[in-house]
Amino acid sequence: MIRNLPTDLSRRNTFGMKVRCARLLEFTEAADLDVLDWGVLPAPVKVIGGGSNLLFTGDFPGTLLHAAVRGVRFTDAPDGTLLLEAGAGEPFDGLCDQVARRGLWGLENLSLIPGETGGAVVQNIGAYGVEVKDVLVRVEAYDRQAAGHVTLAAADCGYGYRDSRFKREPGRFVVTGAAFRLRRDPSPQLGYRGIREALQRNGWAGDPATLTPQAVREAVIGIRREKLPDPAETGSAGSFFKNPVLPREDFDALQERERAAFGEIPHFDLGGHVKVPAAWLIDRCGLKGRRRGGAQVFPTQPLVLVNATGDAAPEDVLALEDEIIETVRQRFGICLHPEVEHIGNE
Ligand SMILES: Cc1cc2nc3c(=O)[nH]c(=O)nc-3n(C[C@H](O)[C@H](O)[C@H](O)COP(=O)(O)OP(=O)(O)OC[C@H]3O[C@@H](n4cnc5c(N)ncnc54)[C@H](O)[C@@H]3O)c2cc1C
Repeated sequence: MIRNLPTDLSRRNTFGMKVRCARLLEFTEAADLDVLDWGVLPAPVKVIGGGSNLLFTGDFPGTLLHAAVRGVRFTDAPDGTLLLEAGAGEPFDGLCDQVARRGLWGLENLSLIPGETGGAVVQNIGAYGVEVKDVLVRVEAYDRQAAGHVTLAAADCGYGYRDSRFKREPGRFVVTGAAFRLRRDPSPQLGYRGIREALQRNGWAGDPATLTPQAVREAVIGIRREKLPDPAETGSAGSFFKNPVLPREDFDALQERERAAFGEIPHFDLGGHVKVPAAWLIDRCGLKGRRRGGAQVFPTQPLVLVNATGDAAPEDVLALEDEIIETVRQRFGICLHPEVEHIGNE
């Protein structure tokens, strides 16, 4: 079924920007897309999920199409694993919850990330050492270029850090569903110290064999609740900037320059490159808690910009974003790039 919805987007973006679009349509079945008269829709046409990675910079002049395909199915595979198939409109954390409750491994580290399954596979969401691509088997989509439905194996989705073929070919694919591979045998991903510490606070003695997916999920939820704003209370789109990746020589030079001021700079080695936490850079520029109008750098996690007053305007967020980029560039010579997608009337 395809239906028209009210065009007020205030409750359709977790940042809480009070904006509108020319038309908002929702479809509930993949087959609806075969009969949709694309040519009559106000352009451009943009697919949205839960709006949790979007910053509306103003009213959107075109059509927003929400993929509201629901349905979850678990199937046993001959190799002892399980296949989870889900509609693009299923809230992703709902899947994490169902999977952990069944004692299955695979999604527990991705718990409590807002948004829907379609958005998750487009974004290649990641947290605590796991990315969606690690468990994804395939994506079902409507290919607007070929005017037909396609199945894309995970290997054909061009995944990178918060990146995918869907992002690099904007407007081409409408994701309608996805399938994930889950395991019964214990396979906890405990590479992040924060998870191990949270598990220990919850009574874990340190043997991975004694863990359950539910215990890891609860630890992850605990950490996220401590650090991140609750989208139900404070508007945001999660991490606003990507963590910059520097060539090894640039990082070494930065470390030498800054050693006297900051000692060891936190970093993550990627071989020839080094990833530096953008939160650390923003914090060291003294921007934690900084406000521009209703927008603020979240005090407990400076990588997140929030709608602190509830009525922040897009201009407030954009002014704060510019100030952060410029301050970090001047102080460290590093250019931050937003992870949050900007959409509006430009
Ligand atoms: C408090 C908070 C914490 C967060 N933490 C994390 C985190 O730990 N890790 C992380 O990776 N992200 C995080 N995010 C960001 C966000 O939740 C994810 O990027 C999420 O997957 C976005 O899903 P969505 O359904 O809201 O997509 P939207 O924001 O609506 O859309 C995101 C992109 O996907 C496209 N898209 C959405 N659905 C479809 C579809 N069906 N077909 C084709 N294209 C589609 C949109 O066009 C857009 O380009 C966080 C956000 C918040 C608010």
